[in-house]
Amino acid sequence: MMVRESELDFKSMPKIELHAHLTGSISRQCLHEIWQGKKAIGATDLEDPLLIMPPGRHDYDLKTFFPLFSSYIYNLVNDAASVEHSTKSVFRDFAQDGVVYLELRTTPRAMPSAGLDKAGYVRTVLRALDAAARETPTLHARLILSIDRRNTLAEALEVVSLATAFRDQGVVAIDLCGDPMKGDVSLFTPAVEKARAAGLKVTIHFAEAEASASEAELATIMAWMPHRLGHVIHVPDAVKRQISARTGIGLELCLSCNVHAKMIVGSFEAHHFGEWWRVEGPVVVPCTDDVGVFESPLSNEWMLIQKHFQLRREEVLTLARKGIDVIFGGDDEKERLRSILWQERAS
Ligand SMILES: [Zn+2]
Repeated sequence: MMVRESELDFKSMPKIELHAHLTGSISRQCLHEIWQGKKAIGATDLEDPLLIMPPGRHDYDLKTFFPLFSSYIYNLVNDAASVEHSTKSVFRDFAQDGVVYLELRTTPRAMPSAGLDKAGYVRTVLRALDAAARETPTLHARLILSIDRRNTLAEALEVVSLATAFRDQGVVAIDLCGDPMKGDVSLFTPAVEKARAAGLKVTIHFAEAEASASEAELATIMAWMPHRLGHVIHVPDAVKRQISARTGIGLELCLSCNVHAKMIVGSFEAHHFGEWWRVEGPVVVPCTDDVGVFESPLSNEWMLIQKHFQLRREEVLTLARKGIDVIFGGDDEKERLRSILWQERAS
Protein backbone atom coordinates (compact mmCIF):
# COMPACT_ATOMS: atom_id res chain seq x y z
CA MET A 1 0.00 0.00 0.00
CA MET A 2 1.35 3.44 -0.88
CA VAL A 3 1.41 5.73 2.11
CA ARG A 4 2.37 9.32 1.61
CA GLU A 5 5.39 10.07 3.76
CA SER A 6 4.82 12.93 6.15
CA GLU A 7 7.51 15.58 6.01
CA LEU A 8 10.21 15.46 8.65
CA ASP A 9 11.34 18.73 10.12
CA PHE A 10 15.05 18.05 10.45
CA LYS A 11 15.72 21.15 12.51
CA SER A 12 13.30 20.20 15.24
CA MET A 13 14.24 16.50 15.06
CA PRO A 14 16.47 15.80 18.12
CA LYS A 15 19.93 15.02 16.78
CA ILE A 16 23.29 13.66 17.91
CA GLU A 17 26.55 15.15 16.63
CA LEU A 18 29.68 13.08 17.18
CA HIS A 19 32.24 14.46 14.74
CA ALA A 20 32.61 18.22 15.04
CA HIS A 21 35.94 20.02 15.31
CA LEU A 22 35.58 22.92 17.71
CA THR A 23 37.59 25.47 15.74
CA GLY A 24 36.20 24.34 12.38
CA SER A 25 32.69 24.72 13.76
CA ILE A 26 33.04 28.43 14.54
CA SER A 27 30.72 30.39 12.26
CA ARG A 28 32.07 33.14 10.04
CA GLN A 29 29.87 35.59 11.94
CA CYS A 30 31.43 34.60 15.26
CA LEU A 31 34.96 34.89 13.81
CA HIS A 32 33.98 38.31 12.50
CA GLU A 33 32.82 39.39 15.97
CA ILE A 34 36.09 38.24 17.52
CA TRP A 35 38.01 40.06 14.79
CA GLN A 36 36.00 43.27 15.31
CA GLY A 37 36.67 43.19 19.05
CA LYS A 38 40.41 42.77 18.50
CA LYS A 39 40.60 45.30 15.68
CA ALA A 40 38.90 47.95 17.85
CA ILE A 41 41.73 47.78 20.38
CA GLY A 42 44.50 47.31 17.83
CA ALA A 43 45.07 43.70 18.89
CA THR A 44 45.13 42.14 15.41
CA ASP A 45 46.58 42.83 11.97
CA LEU A 46 44.58 40.04 10.37
CA GLU A 47 42.05 40.72 7.65
CA ASP A 48 38.33 40.46 8.29
CA PRO A 49 37.32 36.75 8.32
CA LEU A 50 34.37 37.61 6.08
CA LEU A 51 36.93 38.54 3.39
CA ILE A 52 39.19 35.56 4.06
CA MET A 53 36.26 33.11 4.10
CA PRO A 54 33.48 34.73 2.07
CA PRO A 55 30.05 33.42 3.10
CA GLY A 56 28.96 30.82 0.57
CA ARG A 57 32.50 29.73 -0.28
CA HIS A 58 32.81 26.04 0.55
CA ASP A 59 35.34 24.73 -1.95
CA TYR A 60 38.12 24.18 0.56
CA ASP A 61 40.11 21.10 -0.35
CA LEU A 62 42.87 19.35 1.57
CA LYS A 63 45.42 21.83 0.18
CA THR A 64 43.57 24.97 1.29
CA PHE A 65 41.69 23.69 4.33
CA PHE A 66 44.56 23.10 6.78
CA PRO A 67 46.43 26.36 5.97
CA LEU A 68 43.20 28.26 6.64
CA PHE A 69 43.54 27.13 10.25
CA SER A 70 47.31 27.28 10.70
CA SER A 71 47.76 30.68 9.08
CA TYR A 72 44.50 32.38 9.94
CA ILE A 73 41.91 31.02 12.40
CA TYR A 74 44.45 29.89 15.01
CA ASN A 75 45.97 33.38 14.91
CA LEU A 76 42.59 34.99 15.47
CA VAL A 77 41.30 32.64 18.17
CA ASN A 78 44.44 32.88 20.25
CA ASP A 79 43.52 33.77 23.82
CA ALA A 80 41.18 32.69 26.62
CA ALA A 81 38.52 35.28 25.78
CA SER A 82 38.25 34.30 22.10
CA VAL A 83 38.36 30.56 22.90
CA GLU A 84 35.57 31.03 25.42
CA HIS A 85 33.48 33.26 23.16
CA SER A 86 33.80 30.93 20.16
CA THR A 87 33.15 27.76 22.18
CA LYS A 88 29.91 29.21 23.57
CA SER A 89 28.90 30.34 20.10
CA VAL A 90 29.51 26.86 18.63
CA PHE A 91 27.47 25.29 21.43
CA ARG A 92 24.57 27.70 20.83
CA ASP A 93 24.65 27.09 17.06
CA PHE A 94 24.33 23.34 17.55
CA ALA A 95 21.57 23.80 20.15
CA GLN A 96 19.63 26.06 17.80
CA ASP A 97 19.89 23.41 15.10
CA GLY A 98 18.12 20.89 17.34
CA VAL A 99 21.22 19.00 18.47
CA VAL A 100 20.61 17.45 21.92
CA TYR A 101 23.96 15.72 22.36
CA LEU A 102 27.28 17.00 21.06
CA GLU A 103 30.81 15.64 21.13
CA LEU A 104 33.21 18.39 20.16
CA ARG A 105 36.83 17.64 19.46
CA THR A 106 39.85 19.88 19.69
CA THR A 107 43.62 19.60 19.57
CA PRO A 108 45.05 21.10 22.78
CA ARG A 109 46.91 24.26 21.80
CA ALA A 110 49.26 26.27 23.97
CA MET A 111 48.84 30.03 23.61
CA PRO A 112 52.00 31.31 25.27
CA SER A 113 51.42 34.99 24.40
CA ALA A 114 48.08 34.74 26.23
CA GLY A 115 49.58 32.85 29.17
CA LEU A 116 47.73 29.62 28.36
CA ASP A 117 49.41 26.25 28.30
CA LYS A 118 47.67 23.20 26.82
CA ALA A 119 45.97 22.34 30.12
CA GLY A 120 44.82 25.96 30.42
CA TYR A 121 43.35 25.75 26.92
CA VAL A 122 41.41 22.57 27.73
CA ARG A 123 40.21 24.10 31.01
CA THR A 124 38.99 27.20 29.13
CA VAL A 125 37.03 25.12 26.60
CA LEU A 126 35.44 23.02 29.35
CA ARG A 127 34.52 26.13 31.35
CA ALA A 128 32.87 27.66 28.29
CA LEU A 129 30.93 24.44 27.58
CA ASP A 130 29.78 24.41 31.18
CA ALA A 131 28.59 28.01 31.04
CA ALA A 132 26.81 27.40 27.72
CA ALA A 133 25.11 24.28 29.10
CA ARG A 134 23.70 26.28 32.00
CA GLU A 135 22.13 28.70 29.48
CA THR A 136 20.84 25.90 27.24
CA PRO A 137 20.24 22.75 29.29
CA THR A 138 18.61 20.88 26.38
CA LEU A 139 22.05 20.26 24.86
CA HIS A 140 24.63 18.11 26.63
CA ALA A 141 28.21 18.34 25.38
CA ARG A 142 31.35 16.27 25.87
CA LEU A 143 34.89 16.89 24.71
CA ILE A 144 37.31 14.74 22.71
CA LEU A 145 41.00 15.68 22.67
CA SER A 146 42.74 15.20 19.35
CA ILE A 147 46.24 14.09 18.59
CA ASP A 148 47.51 15.81 15.44
CA ARG A 149 49.15 13.60 12.83
CA ARG A 150 52.17 15.91 12.93
CA ASN A 151 52.64 15.39 16.68
CA THR A 152 55.62 13.60 18.15
CA LEU A 153 54.92 10.61 20.37
CA ALA A 154 55.71 12.80 23.41
CA GLU A 155 53.08 15.32 22.28
CA ALA A 156 50.55 12.55 21.66
CA LEU A 157 51.19 11.13 25.13
CA GLU A 158 50.63 14.61 26.55
CA VAL A 159 47.19 14.71 24.86
CA VAL A 160 46.36 11.38 26.51
CA SER A 161 47.53 12.69 29.90
CA LEU A 162 45.33 15.79 29.50
CA ALA A 163 42.35 13.69 28.46
CA THR A 164 42.87 11.50 31.53
CA ALA A 165 43.30 14.48 33.84
CA PHE A 166 40.09 16.13 32.60
CA ARG A 167 37.99 12.97 32.41
CA ASP A 168 35.76 13.88 35.32
CA GLN A 169 35.14 17.28 33.73
CA GLY A 170 33.72 16.06 30.44
CA VAL A 171 36.57 14.70 28.33
CA VAL A 172 35.52 11.29 27.05
CA ALA A 173 37.95 10.23 24.33
CA ILE A 174 40.96 10.86 22.15
CA ASP A 175 41.00 11.31 18.39
CA LEU A 176 43.69 11.29 15.72
CA CYS A 177 43.24 13.97 13.09
CA GLY A 178 45.07 16.56 11.00
CA ASP A 179 46.50 16.76 7.52
CA PRO A 180 46.21 13.24 6.02
CA MET A 181 49.27 13.93 3.87
CA LYS A 182 51.39 14.11 7.02
CA GLY A 183 52.69 11.70 9.62
CA ASP A 184 53.14 7.98 10.25
CA VAL A 185 50.36 6.81 12.54
CA SER A 186 52.24 3.75 13.82
CA LEU A 187 54.20 6.22 15.94
CA PHE A 188 51.10 6.74 18.08
CA THR A 189 50.40 3.13 19.06
CA PRO A 190 51.73 3.61 22.63
CA ALA A 191 49.55 6.72 23.06
CA VAL A 192 46.40 4.92 21.92
CA GLU A 193 47.21 1.97 24.18
CA LYS A 194 47.71 4.32 27.11
CA ALA A 195 44.37 6.01 26.41
CA ARG A 196 42.53 2.70 26.27
CA ALA A 197 44.20 1.56 29.49
CA ALA A 198 42.99 4.77 31.15
CA GLY A 199 39.42 3.95 30.11
CA LEU A 200 39.18 6.62 27.44
CA LYS A 201 37.32 5.94 24.20
CA VAL A 202 39.11 6.14 20.87
CA THR A 203 37.94 7.60 17.57
CA ILE A 204 40.22 7.91 14.55
CA HIS A 205 40.13 9.78 11.23
CA PHE A 206 40.26 6.81 8.90
CA ALA A 207 41.17 6.66 5.19
CA GLU A 208 40.24 10.31 4.79
CA ALA A 209 42.51 10.67 1.75
CA GLU A 210 44.43 8.23 -0.42
CA ALA A 211 47.61 9.35 1.35
CA SER A 212 46.20 8.15 4.67
CA ALA A 213 44.77 4.90 3.35
CA SER A 214 47.81 2.72 2.87
CA GLU A 215 47.35 -0.93 3.76
CA ALA A 216 49.85 -0.49 6.61
CA GLU A 217 48.10 2.56 8.08
CA LEU A 218 44.64 1.00 7.97
CA ALA A 219 45.95 -2.24 9.53
CA THR A 220 47.67 -0.28 12.31
CA ILE A 221 44.50 1.66 13.11
CA MET A 222 42.23 -1.40 12.98
CA ALA A 223 44.59 -3.13 15.42
CA TRP A 224 44.02 -0.28 17.87
CA MET A 225 40.39 -1.49 18.08
CA PRO A 226 38.94 2.03 17.85
CA HIS A 227 35.40 2.54 19.11
CA ARG A 228 34.57 4.80 16.19
CA LEU A 229 36.04 5.74 12.81
CA GLY A 230 35.66 9.08 11.03
CA HIS A 231 35.15 9.54 7.26
CA VAL A 232 35.99 5.95 6.12
CA ILE A 233 36.47 6.97 2.48
CA HIS A 234 39.31 5.14 0.72
CA VAL A 235 38.68 1.71 2.17
CA PRO A 236 39.62 -1.48 0.29
CA ASP A 237 37.07 -4.29 0.29
CA ALA A 238 39.03 -6.46 2.73
CA VAL A 239 39.04 -3.66 5.30
CA LYS A 240 35.35 -2.98 4.63
CA ARG A 241 34.67 -6.58 5.58
CA GLN A 242 36.66 -6.16 8.79
CA ILE A 243 34.67 -3.04 9.69
CA SER A 244 31.40 -4.78 8.90
CA ALA A 245 32.34 -7.58 11.29
CA ARG A 246 32.90 -5.16 14.19
CA THR A 247 29.46 -4.98 15.70
CA GLY A 248 28.83 -1.69 17.42
CA ILE A 249 31.68 0.26 15.86
CA GLY A 250 30.57 3.82 15.08
CA LEU A 251 31.10 5.35 11.63
CA GLU A 252 31.07 9.15 11.64
CA LEU A 253 30.19 10.10 8.06
CA CYS A 254 30.40 13.71 6.89
CA LEU A 255 28.64 14.24 3.57
CA SER A 256 28.93 17.95 2.79
CA CYS A 257 32.53 18.15 3.91
CA ASN A 258 33.50 15.19 1.70
CA VAL A 259 31.61 16.54 -1.31
CA HIS A 260 32.68 20.20 -1.05
CA ALA A 261 36.31 19.32 -0.32
CA LYS A 262 36.23 16.84 -3.24
CA MET A 263 37.37 14.03 -0.96
CA ILE A 264 35.08 11.68 -2.84
CA VAL A 265 34.49 11.32 -6.56
CA GLY A 266 31.07 12.60 -7.55
CA SER A 267 28.39 14.34 -5.56
CA PHE A 268 26.10 13.45 -2.68
CA GLU A 269 24.46 10.44 -4.33
CA ALA A 270 27.93 8.90 -4.77
CA HIS A 271 28.77 9.26 -1.07
CA HIS A 272 29.62 6.03 0.76
CA PHE A 273 26.82 6.78 3.22
CA GLY A 274 24.69 4.94 0.68
CA GLU A 275 26.88 1.89 1.01
CA TRP A 276 27.08 1.82 4.81
CA TRP A 277 23.83 2.97 6.32
CA ARG A 278 22.01 -0.35 5.98
CA VAL A 279 24.95 -2.58 6.90
CA GLU A 280 24.28 -4.61 10.05
CA GLY A 281 26.98 -4.27 12.69
CA PRO A 282 28.53 -0.81 12.32
CA VAL A 283 26.45 2.19 13.39
CA VAL A 284 26.41 5.09 10.93
CA VAL A 285 26.12 8.58 12.39
CA PRO A 286 25.82 11.58 10.05
CA CYS A 287 28.09 14.40 11.26
CA THR A 288 29.16 17.87 10.15
CA ASP A 289 32.97 17.82 10.66
CA ASP A 290 33.50 21.59 10.16
CA VAL A 291 30.19 23.41 9.93
CA GLY A 292 31.95 26.78 10.20
CA VAL A 293 33.79 26.13 6.95
CA PHE A 294 31.21 24.16 4.96
CA GLU A 295 28.13 25.94 6.40
CA SER A 296 25.93 22.85 6.36
CA PRO A 297 24.37 22.37 9.81
CA LEU A 298 23.47 18.89 11.00
CA SER A 299 19.79 19.38 10.11
CA ASN A 300 20.88 20.01 6.53
CA GLU A 301 23.05 16.88 6.51
CA TRP A 302 19.96 14.84 7.43
CA MET A 303 17.96 16.61 4.75
CA LEU A 304 20.65 15.76 2.18
CA ILE A 305 20.64 12.13 3.29
CA GLN A 306 16.91 11.85 2.89
CA LYS A 307 16.99 13.62 -0.45
CA HIS A 308 19.85 11.69 -2.03
CA PHE A 309 19.27 8.25 -0.53
CA GLN A 310 15.47 8.34 -0.28
CA LEU A 311 15.24 7.22 3.32
CA ARG A 312 11.70 6.79 4.54
CA ARG A 313 10.64 8.63 7.68
CA GLU A 314 10.86 5.49 9.80
CA GLU A 315 14.35 4.76 8.44
CA VAL A 316 15.53 8.27 9.34
CA LEU A 317 14.22 7.93 12.88
CA THR A 318 15.70 4.45 13.30
CA LEU A 319 19.10 5.64 12.10
CA ALA A 320 19.00 8.68 14.40
CA ARG A 321 18.20 6.46 17.38
CA LYS A 322 20.93 3.93 16.58
CA GLY A 323 23.47 6.72 17.01
CA ILE A 324 22.80 6.65 20.76
CA ASP A 325 24.61 3.30 21.02
CA VAL A 326 27.95 4.78 19.92
CA ILE A 327 28.11 7.98 21.95
CA PHE A 328 30.94 8.23 24.46
CA GLY A 329 28.84 10.00 27.09
CA GLY A 330 27.97 7.00 29.28
CA ASP A 331 24.83 5.07 30.22
CA ASP A 332 22.91 7.87 31.94
CA GLU A 333 23.33 10.05 28.87
CA LYS A 334 22.20 7.18 26.62
CA GLU A 335 19.11 6.81 28.79
CA ARG A 336 18.35 10.53 28.52
CA LEU A 337 18.77 10.43 24.75
CA ARG A 338 16.53 7.38 24.42
CA SER A 339 13.76 9.22 26.25
CA ILE A 340 14.18 12.20 23.89
CA LEU A 341 14.66 10.43 20.56
CA TRP A 342 11.88 7.93 21.11
CA GLN A 343 9.39 10.76 21.67
CA GLU A 344 9.53 11.46 17.95
CA ARG A 345 6.53 9.49 16.72
CA ALA A 346 6.95 7.51 13.58
CA SER A 347 3.36 8.02 12.55
ZN1 LIG B 1 37.27 15.52 11.12
